[in-house]
Amino acid sequence: MEAKKNLLYEHEECIKRGNKIAYFSMEICVDHKIPTYSGGLGILAGDTIRSAADLGVPLTAVTLLYKKGYLKQKIDGQGYQQELPEEWNPQEVMVKLPIRIQVEIEKRKVAVECWMYLVRGIDGSNVPVYFLDTDLPENNDFDRSLSYYLYGGDERYRLAQEIVLGVGGVRILREMGHKDISHYHMNEGHASLLALELLNNFNNLEKNNWDIEQVKKRCVFTTHTPVSAGMDQFPYPLVEQVLGEIIPFDLLKSLAGAERLNMTQLALNLSHYINGVAKKHGQVSCEMFPGYHIDSITNGVHSATWVGKYFAELYDQYIPGWKSDPFSLRYALNIPDGEVWQAHQKAKGELIEYINKVSNSAFEKEVLTIGFARRATTYKRADLIFYDLNRLKEIAGKKGKIQLVFAGKAHPKDGPGKELIAKVVRISQQLSDSDNIKMVYLEDYNMDLGKMLTSGVDVWLNTPKKPQEASGTSGMKAAHNGIPSFSILDGWWVEGCIEGVTGWSIGSAANLESIEQEEADSLYRKLEMEVIPAYYNQRAHWINIMRHCIAVNASFFNTHRMVLQYVSNAYL
Ligand SMILES: *Cc1c(COP(=O)(O)O)cnc(C)c1O
Repeated sequence: MEAKKNLLYEHEECIKRGNKIAYFSMEICVDHKIPTYSGGLGILAGDTIRSAADLGVPLTAVTLLYKKGYLKQKIDGQGYQQELPEEWNPQEVMVKLPIRIQVEIEKRKVAVECWMYLVRGIDGSNVPVYFLDTDLPENNDFDRSLSYYLYGGDERYRLAQEIVLGVGGVRILREMGHKDISHYHMNEGHASLLALELLNNFNNLEKNNWDIEQVKKRCVFTTHTPVSAGMDQFPYPLVEQVLGEIIPFDLLKSLAGAERLNMTQLALNLSHYINGVAKKHGQVSCEMFPGYHIDSITNGVHSATWVGKYFAELYDQYIPGWKSDPFSLRYALNIPDGEVWQAHQKAKGELIEYINKVSNSAFEKEVLTIGFARRATTYKRADLIFYDLNRLKEIAGKKGKIQLVFAGKAHPKDGPGKELIAKVVRISQQLSDSDNIKMVYLEDYNMDLGKMLTSGVDVWLNTPKKPQEASGTSGMKAAHNGIPSFSILDGWWVEGCIEGVTGWSIGSAANLESIEQEEADSLYRKLEMEVIPAYYNQRAHWINIMRHCIAVNASFFNTHRMVLQYVSNAYL
């Protein structure tokens, strides 16, 4: 880590400049060495911050410190996930700031301190990221443990963490001297207690005349899930015990729901700008929450972070300046065939070398390799491609060999998600005698493995159950590396798919909800008639698809475009 003195000096400069936007997220992935994320939400937060820094957007981010991370995954011989803590040392990667505030949890005063990581933009702008820490000697064991695990523990633990994030976050910013914050951006409902802290700040408790508009005009809310089961909800007796009467309960119930404290509801009622994360997700959200105006800003990825080394060299040569201006990736259509193919083969070679080192699956560089990596949760349907295993074997036998690489962690409490991993691992064992299909499940999906996969496979497969994929971003990473998606028409792919030009769709756009049999059939038909033949017999056509992934999709599905939309639609 660079000298602490410099970091502190630059941090002071950020405060003096006045970072007007405060971005709150339960998980943020700022660096592959800092395991404080579980999946897409945290990766998106990190990419957002990196783009904001590059673009000079005056932003400060707030999240929690998790000293034991999310989980380190091992998979046993039967395919069952084992979870180990992911210990890391904040001292090695961030600096502790000399600052402290308190929040009340179960009527106890809990001390909160803060670590800072500075994200540096390409042109010298910085975004400070604050990691709130309660693991301090004066706190009791439960309060200290709030800084151990992301998404660990029970409802009580979760609510207490959300108090630290929302209430503690606002207080830390104030204590730090951040003045004139014009917008508080809640990245998902976990952060929405911040709006209650603001409500208290803007109101004289004696008057009992709550000025909700003061809060609304400062709050922005991005919703990330199209299923209500995925939203945090807490029973009021628990709220009373853990949070206490932070605002009068009548008022809280009118804002957050009569039955339970629904964090999404709270954020919807206290924000002037609300958005979903893809066009389709915006529409689905409007139907879920009638009466609210819900816009959409489609997600992206940070181009310079997700382009692998070999394509980065190619872009440097043919599209200089692409890192600060990823829109210029549209010129990728001019990169010669041979060079696109060579860059891809080098990235693929590295992935295959890795796979063969960590497993005994003997992958080959010339064989069509299909990747599938995402959180192992049932709606993502990692097993759809095995709907009819004999048909899959027949296709690979007749049309050309395939290799399948899987990865993904299940949440420790997600039993069905763990069964899904075990099922996929079992199938890979059944296939071990097949000449035409090779398969591997890689352990411990994280940012580094994600990058290796989304730059090293030939096709990126995504088969979520509609309409549950809010956006999905891994296919955007693949597009940045010239890799076509083969995917259900849900989330971002509704916008990104041009059939046979940027990849292939699975199933019909007309069905709003998934029909598994039809989708499996569509998957097999396209794999047999289009994907495998194009890969083995029409190389020029294939490379043309690769170039269109970059020119049409990477140039648009990046966080530079996304952050600029937040600036003009939400922050200004
Ligand atoms: C990009 C990424 C995700 C999110 O991918 P989805 O397509 O949204 O499922 C999750 N985990 C890791 C490690 C990633 O890199």
